[in-house]
Amino acid sequence: MALADRLADVDGRIADAARAAGRDPAALTRIVVTKFHPASLVHDLHRLGVRDVGENRQQEFSAKVAEVGDLEGLRWHFIGQAQTKKARAIRAAASAVHSLDRARLADALHAAAEPGSAVLDVLLQVNLTDDPGRGGVQPAELEALAGHAAALPSLRVRGIMAVAPLDVAPEAAFAQLPGLADTVRSVVPNADWISAGMTADFAEAIAAGATHLRIGSAITGPRPPHG
Ligand SMILES: *Cc1c(COP(=O)(O)O)cnc(C)c1O
Repeated sequence: MALADRLADVDGRIADAARAAGRDPAALTRIVVTKFHPASLVHDLHRLGVRDVGENRQQEFSAKVAEVGDLEGLRWHFIGQAQTKKARAIRAAASAVHSLDRARLADALHAAAEPGSAVLDVLLQVNLTDDPGRGGVQPAELEALAGHAAALPSLRVRGIMAVAPLDVAPEAAFAQLPGLADTVRSVVPNADWISAGMTADFAEAIAAGATHLRIGSAITGPRPPHG
């Protein structure tokens, strides 16, 4: 299948899942994850009408933005683990950071704001596993992180982000999302984004209320080998 066909196929499956859940497909944002692929893929996707792309590694992200970042209307979503010392580079290139998982990173992103720069949309990544080594804040710490980030004027807390653990059915993992989203909304009432759902589980994420889907390989094809 060609890129355009895979994109259309995924969008059709997104629309089906939305209708099955009684939701409006137009209310969903489909982010195409382009990690490990060359910047030319972003160009091709843009030509097909894609305006939201996601990257998970700062160096690759910054390099791609330098190459194709001036494409009209393109929004870059940073979705990977972020080192505090890379906050400036991430902030310089991202429209939204989905992977805010600790107060120190919030502080670093805030400190990296240039005078007069736009407010940065952030999502609080929540760890849905029992393993504290996995990315994301523990659910019990979510409210405190929301309060911390909400107090930083150059950040706008938009909602939550989560990745389904590999060893649990996605329905069961994503069942936690509405309650976690409520926790953030108890601090930031209009934080209504839920970033969840990848190639293997976007239909389950939509059923659980996801608003932002991060889909890679179903659209881009298999990722090239990487180091
Ligand atoms: C790579 C990645 C995705 C997309 O994964 P696919 O399975 O290729 O759809 C989504 N979210 C995050 C955080 C990722 O790192």
